[in-house]
Amino acid sequence: MSAAGDSTITVIGAGIFGVCTALELLDRGHSVTLIEQFEDGDSRTTSNGITRNIRFSHGDDLWYTRSARAAKTLWTNLEARLATELMDECGVAWFSHDEEGWAGASQKTLEAEGIPVERLDPSEGTKLYPSFGYDDLAFIVLEPDAGVLSFSTPLQSGTRPEFRPIRMWKTQTPFTAAAAWTVFPSRSALI
Ligand SMILES: Cc1cc2nc3c(=O)[nH]c(=O)nc-3n(C[C@H](O)[C@H](O)[C@H](O)COP(=O)(O)OP(=O)(O)OC[C@H]3O[C@@H](n4cnc5c(N)ncnc54)[C@H](O)[C@@H]3O)c2cc1C
Repeated sequence: MSAAGDSTITVIGAGIFGVCTALELLDRGHSVTLIEQFEDGDSRTTSNGITRNIRFSHGDDLWYTRSARAAKTLWTNLEARLATELMDECGVAWFSHDEEGWAGASQKTLEAEGIPVERLDPSEGTKLYPSFGYDDLAFIVLEPDAGVLSFSTPLQSGTRPEFRPIRMWKTQTPFTAAAAWTVFPSRSALI
């Protein structure tokens, strides 16, 4: 890739990775084209799923824990940039049957990293879920600022002012590398 500000870069795919890559390239001064085969909000785009969550528990795996936490900062930055709520910090609760298990290890890692985490008595689970049966549980690990992610809003890319500098191209069919060589100049980069 050449120095900032002097190249045209084409990103194929307007999922979360493609959109964030396009925005980053824009910030670095490049001219960006973003190609997508589907219309905004299409459920075949993985990022549009309604079940996506962000949480920091990864047992004793420090790399994943820190990576997830760093991702939260990036989501917060994206929310600010788009002036849109993308995260619902409703909390994530892990139900554990024994002290030595994954949830207990996660709690220790989160505490060591200074990431908000609480240990709840199983009976407190009824405050989270009124019909909850907790007889066989040892404890609950609650991550209060984890929660649900929604990416469908940023995909309204054609209409949002933040995306206007990006050239959006809806292809309706999968864009192929072979087509790229006929459409784009030789100095373009494809991602
Ligand atoms: C069931 C499920 C649950 C998940 N849960 C979570 C979760 O809880 N938390 C979490 O962080 N992650 C979760 N993930 C993973 C997360 O959703 C994905 O890692 C993320 O959305 C991938 O983003 P992406 O931009 O790489 O891909 P996508 O969102 O799939 O975007 C790729 C885009 O590229 C387009 N495209 C591809 N090829 C072409 C082409 N040739 N021409 C034109 N367009 C093209 C596609 O149409 C698509 O829109 C989950 C995934 C699944 C499937």
